[in-house]
Amino acid sequence: MASPARGRADFGRALCVITGASRGFGRALAKQVSGLVRAGSVLVLAARSADDLQTLRAELTQSGASPPGLVVQCVAADLGSAQGVESVVTTCKAAFTEDIDHVFLINNAGALGDVSRYLKGFTDMTEVNSYLSLNVSSMLCLTASVLQAFPPRPGLRRTAINVSSLTALQPFPSWVLYCTGKAARDMMFRVLAEEQPDVRVLNYAPGPLDTEMLRNAVSRTADPTIKKSFVDLYAKGEVLTCEASSSKLMKLLLEDSFTSGAHVDFYDI
Ligand code: NDP
Repeated sequence: MASPARGRADFGRALCVITGASRGFGRALAKQVSGLVRAGSVLVLAARSADDLQTLRAELTQSGASPPGLVVQCVAADLGSAQGVESVVTTCKAAFTEDIDHVFLINNAGALGDVSRYLKGFTDMTEVNSYLSLNVSSMLCLTASVLQAFPPRPGLRRTAINVSSLTALQPFPSWVLYCTGKAARDMMFRVLAEEQPDVRVLNYAPGPLDTEMLRNAVSRTADPTIKKSFVDLYAKGEVLTCEASSSKLMKLLLEDSFTSGAHVDFYDI
């Protein structure tokens, strides 16, 4: 792990984009990031639920933990569409100021997809494309657009995070859409790390989190073994809070000693 000398105390004067910030892990990330940025930073929070984003915005701007002058921009958009991605990028460009020294993108938004069927049930290409559009294409296009909008310059750090999963590495029966999406996202970011050594790139698997997504997984998973593994996690009290996992990610990012492009799991840290 990092030597203290390499660690950072905060994320600097950042433009930080968090997708899927309306609830669950993204919401916890927004709260913790807001306490670790300097005055003059901008948070761009994206999701479809405008009201939930506004509630979070009010909490962050009124919180004593946020730095003075923190700007929080909400983008109520469907990231499964090109327009949704464009609206996030437009907001980022408008919010950027020359004294920002860190562009920080957290690709967190995602969907479980239908886990009630096995692979042989997925014959509808429109359904599959729609899933990949949100979970893979939008992350690629958003990351590319942000990197293009804020090219390298002296004094500007750039960080890109993919909220990944164990399923990027391990096949879960009846989770074909989810596993495919997460595996693709990890590889996308491994390529990015190879192409752009100046960008700090991370695939972070947050562990099993007590969110709407995991609760849906428990109730809807077709495969009995996978389903039981989630039921057992709850029964044994092994499901994590979003705050605990987000804290570990913050620690990892501040220590800044991970290999760019690596897949790091909550349980590895
Ligand atoms: P939730 O379902 O609780 O939250 C998902 C977030 O993504 C919400 O803010 C939702 O906002 C947003 N989102 C969903 N669809 C869209 C869309 N079309 N456009 C814009 N935003 C969208 O999930 P989690 O918090 O559990 O998951 C967050 C990330 O963590 C995901 O990438 C997930 O795969 C990953 N993960 C989760 C694990 C878990 O155990 N929960 C384990 C490993 C990884 P809205 O509905 O307002 O649009």
